[in-house]
Amino acid sequence: YYSIKLTPYMDHSSPTFEQYNSCTELKITEDEIIKLGRDSRVTKRKREAEGIEPDPLVVFYKSKVISRTHAHLFIKDGKWFVRDIHSASGTFINHSRVPPSENYDNCFQLKDGDILQLGANYRGPQKPTQKRGYYQAVKLRVELNRIWQEQASEYNKRVFDQFNILNMNGDTRNDEKNMDELNGSKCVICLASISPCQSLFISRCSHVWHYKCIRPLIVQNYPIFECPCCRAQINLEDDVD
Ligand SMILES: [Zn+2]
Ligand SMILES: [Zn+2]
Repeated sequence: YYSIKLTPYMDHSSPTFEQYNSCTELKITEDEIIKLGRDSRVTKRKREAEGIEPDPLVVFYKSKVISRTHAHLFIKDGKWFVRDIHSASGTFINHSRVPPSENYDNCFQLKDGDILQLGANYRGPQKPTQKRGYYQAVKLRVELNRIWQEQASEYNKRVFDQFNILNMNGDTRNDEKNMDELNGSKCVICLASISPCQSLFISRCSHVWHYKCIRPLIVQNYPIFECPCCRAQINLEDDVD
């Protein structure tokens, strides 16, 4: 099979957490198609009422500028392609518009690292009822066939072992409660363990959390970060040398 990961591509400080979490990873064979589009409340309610299981190969994005059936992703001769299904506001690869296609021939090839954009930003009259981000194009960073990156390598495991040893022996802080928490290598925010292949944030005071768990606190008063464990006030824009 072939794998694809679509990561919403946006400003780091964006306040819309919702789209951050909608990172999609899918695997398909040459006979399958991934369908990208917008869900409507009506069809969603209908699906739920009829007890229809959501199709894992149908990916929905919450933006009014995306058509209900916007684009298809598929494999041909071992390569990834995108087909625009006559979407109202277009499909773009690296800012170039992909012409709509009647069939699966003459479609655009997708490459690892491409930015796939669904729809174009809508700049109509702003009504007070319009939700921010709801009329914006969805930009996705495309990663292709990178399953190998997701397994913990020897390097990942060794870094993590060193990290645990440091936490057990080298901790000179006198706060026993915090030491206990760290010795178990748990993130004090979600209480799940800290393990290889997770994205972590280590603050100047050496406290550590999952990045996604601590992120709301990082952006809150950026660049000043107050450690929730030891209350240290840290300037995240401090020079590194
Ligand atoms: Zn966590
Ligand atoms: Zn701290």
